[in-house]
Amino acid sequence: MDADIVCVGFGPATAGFLATLSKQLVNADGTPAVESAVMPGMPPQVLCYERADDIGFGVSGVVTRARALKASFPEIKTAGIPMAAPVGEEKVLYLLDPHGASRRSAALKIADALIRAMKFALPVENHALNLPWTPAFLHKHDGLILSMGQFMQWVGAQVQSTGTVQIWPGTPVSQALVEDKKIVGVRLLDQGVDKKGNPSDGFTPGMDIHAALTVIGDGPVGAIGQQLDAQFGMPEGHHTRDWAVGMKFVVDLPADTTLKPGTVLHTFGYPEPEIFGFLYVHPDRVASLGIFVPSWFDSPARTAYRYLQHWMLHPYLWRHLKGGKLRSWGAKTLGESGQHGEPHLTGDGYARIGEGSGTTNVLTGSGVDEAWATGTQLAEAVLELLKAKKSFTKEILEETYVKRRRASWVEAEGRVAEKSRDGFQKGVATGMIGMALAGLTNGKFSLGSAPVQPWKRIPTVEDYFAGKISRAEIAKLRDECKAKNVPLHGALMDKAGWPAIPFDGQLLVSHQDALLMGGKVQAPGGYADHVVFQHPELCEKCGARICIEACSGQAIYPGETGVPAFDREKCVHCGACLWNCSQANPENPERMNIAFRAGTGGLHSAEN
Ligand SMILES: Cc1cc2nc3c(=O)[nH]c(=O)nc-3n(C[C@H](O)[C@H](O)[C@H](O)COP(=O)(O)OP(=O)(O)OC[C@H]3O[C@@H](n4cnc5c(N)ncnc54)[C@H](O)[C@@H]3O)c2cc1C
Ligand code: SF4
Ligand code: SF4
Repeated sequence: MDADIVCVGFGPATAGFLATLSKQLVNADGTPAVESAVMPGMPPQVLCYERADDIGFGVSGVVTRARALKASFPEIKTAGIPMAAPVGEEKVLYLLDPHGASRRSAALKIADALIRAMKFALPVENHALNLPWTPAFLHKHDGLILSMGQFMQWVGAQVQSTGTVQIWPGTPVSQALVEDKKIVGVRLLDQGVDKKGNPSDGFTPGMDIHAALTVIGDGPVGAIGQQLDAQFGMPEGHHTRDWAVGMKFVVDLPADTTLKPGTVLHTFGYPEPEIFGFLYVHPDRVASLGIFVPSWFDSPARTAYRYLQHWMLHPYLWRHLKGGKLRSWGAKTLGESGQHGEPHLTGDGYARIGEGSGTTNVLTGSGVDEAWATGTQLAEAVLELLKAKKSFTKEILEETYVKRRRASWVEAEGRVAEKSRDGFQKGVATGMIGMALAGLTNGKFSLGSAPVQPWKRIPTVEDYFAGKISRAEIAKLRDECKAKNVPLHGALMDKAGWPAIPFDGQLLVSHQDALLMGGKVQAPGGYADHVVFQHPELCEKCGARICIEACSGQAIYPGETGVPAFDREKCVHCGACLWNCSQANPENPERMNIAFRAGTGGLHSAEN
């Protein structure tokens, strides 16, 4: 099939692209403002393929200054978008450990002791220090709290109502079509295949869509972005070594909640010092809350789900959450390399936008607005080129799209943030000081060193828990978990002093129940497994099977052989397994042993 423009993924970046483009493809009288090359006399044929089963089924950000969003939709604050609220009170809290179970450095223990000793003079309440001053770069004044699921559905309706753009959910793109280093379109995923991708009942090969321009906005772990990184390499010195998995709940707050819509809480320090948390209040007593577990948290047992429960149970938060009810749940990887992770933004026939192109600002904790902005910049460039009947070569895209991007606030603020998190390579205290230093000096100074590949940071379970759990005890726990075919982290955390989770069937539910109640995870049959253990021999001798421990959906589990098993029907497509593996890929040490490919299914919730 032939189109003029084909887009991969419908996240905020592509939404920004299509919202800008679609408004200007036809004149007020309905005649084409620019003409299609494949359907003469018609406006350009623009297709967008989204992997998830509906628009807005991703898990995304919720507090944003919304500068780029407001530029596209000046009426956004009064547009009646469900779950939207203007930002009100913002707080940054340092959470102390009420149980003594987290792994804290000596410096942090001293700081904690000082805070506790001085609590009569400090704003300390329920084991949390409310930072009396926070730097301006962290604030989202005049911004919005959004459910990205609801917002994306709203944008999708606006874009499609122009009649100039088609968005196809439930349609993963399996690869970019490359001819002589030029991208000439995309191939969709084969249907009617077995787990390994071999033709089976009802085999339908993925269709090829040829287009003059392919727009790649498939996020941080998208298969097409990965393909281009592998095929064209990264610019000198660039890499994607910093990641985090963000896991969130959408919760009905108790009827007597005192939290007002617009409240923004950001936390650090607990359940482990490396884990950041957030709580944003929507209208109608609904809150989005969750944690980020970063790649520089060196635990081989890093489970976002259990840590999220301990975070909710922190006394400062639990007094607001007790009696609440889970509405929706999900997890998603964040590319945290920022401009370190910027790939080649253009090539002949393609342009990259959004988080997969290095837009996320790790200093300000902002990704949606940046992704959206790069989409609009590309759309402006494309409209200019369509009107001038110019082709989409690398050179021309650099002169139009990349030039706009380099001149924008996204670039300027991205430069400030570029090295701001390098301090976390050396520890949490260095990381926090490094962030403040970079933010307060406009990026002139920072601390720390260049990030290393995540697999290099993962110690064995025995080494990580040395001094807390003996090797003999770990061996026993391993045997017990193996016999039950369950991950090891629960047993390890219990042994390390973490209290049991008091399940209440409403908010504190088992991981399995969360999949059913909140994520409503589904996977249609007839597709290949999108998570593949590329070198089984590496798994067989692997001493830190972090893929199992970190899996957000319990979709990777011990299995019968030495190689973990994968259950497609539990996968929430968070992409965490792409970087949560302790073994380097022999063909490419920047990547690990797991391949995370294009796939269908995942979460069925538009509230996240
Ligand atoms: C829990 C969490 C909380 C966050 N909080 C905030 C916040 O408060 N504020 C903020 O600004 N940012 C936040 N972020 C970051 C923000 O969500 C991202 O920066 C933003 O979503 C990036 O947009 P994007 O369009 O580039 O990519 P994505 O949002 O990742 O969208 C990419 C889309 O492409 C689709 N796709 C991928 N592969 C394919 C394929 N092969 N074929 C078809 N479709 C494909 C995906 O399904 C997805 O819909 C948060 C992220 C998480 C995970
Ligand atoms: S996928 Fe990676 S972490 Fe998991 S068992 Fe294999 S080598 Fe180990
Ligand atoms: S298998 Fe699925 S749910 Fe598990 S980490 Fe990978 S993408 Fe996430």
